Amino acid sequence: MFDFKGKVALVTGGSRGIGRAISVGLGRGGATVIVNFAGNESAAQETCQLVEQAGGKAIARRFDVADPAACTAAVEETVKEHGGLHVLVHNAGIAIDQLLMRLKDEDLERQLDVNLKAAFYLCRAAARPMMKQRGGAIVNLTSVVGEMGNGGQTAYAATKAGLIGFTKSLAKELASRNVRANLVSPGFIDTDMTRDLPEDVRKAMLGAIPLGRLGSAEEVASAVCFLASDASAYVTGEVIRVNGGMLM
Ligand code: NAP
Repeated sequence: MFDFKGKVALVTGGSRGIGRAISVGLGRGGATVIVNFAGNESAAQETCQLVEQAGGKAIARRFDVADPAACTAAVEETVKEHGGLHVLVHNAGIAIDQLLMRLKDEDLERQLDVNLKAAFYLCRAAARPMMKQRGGAIVNLTSVVGEMGNGGQTAYAATKAGLIGFTKSLAKELASRNVRANLVSPGFIDTDMTRDLPEDVRKAMLGAIPLGRLGSAEEVASAVCFLASDASAYVTGEVIRVNGGMLM
């Protein structure tokens, strides 16, 4: 467990799956967590309850991370209402799988907007208060697919690979103000995103994982909480893989 007492965190897509585990992990350390979600209000409320039960404070906030103005407003209002922003986790992400030959322009645009461009909007807004505070931790969620590629996921992989270049560059821009930027790269994790995969695809993927099982959202959240905490004070521009050995 890491100490987040007195810290304010914004977690995009913090209501379900990996994001929920991150919100609860931060709450366990005593953080005030802004739990962002897009549409599923009841999941967000349930997550807020879990954060509070774990010892933190939680506020659900609906906005589409693809909307630049909404991202800026979320950061600015968080700082105004809670006195600062110490941790930003851009976890919200979507995968619309299709072979390149059949990829629709709108599906490409949507994945770029939600997964990649949102990081620009959120981090740009968060950088100002974090630099002023002389401290902050940004953690972006990439994917094993962004590192090794995957047929049917050219767009998703491109957004996740883009996040790596973006975050490493940002780490260099913000380091002198003690603001760190890192990534966590999950492998095959048991969430709604992976639950609907056809049985043969699931079996093939399991065969490629040396640890022989899917990861849990909590196992990813542990790495995120480490990077969000002072325990990683000398770590920036880094990618922590949580993939059961799928890519070493
Ligand atoms: P998930 O279970 O599908 O949950 C997605 C979360 O993102 C939900 O809270 C959802 O809110 C929110 N969201 C989606 N679109 C949004 C938008 N436009 N604006 C704001 N919030 C939005 O996903 P997950 O599996 O936990 O994945 C979390 C992250 O890890 C993603 O970035 C994903 O790419 C990455 N990742 C996952 C895996 C895996 O195996 N699961 C592997 C590698 C990387 P609503 O419920 O309100 O829609």
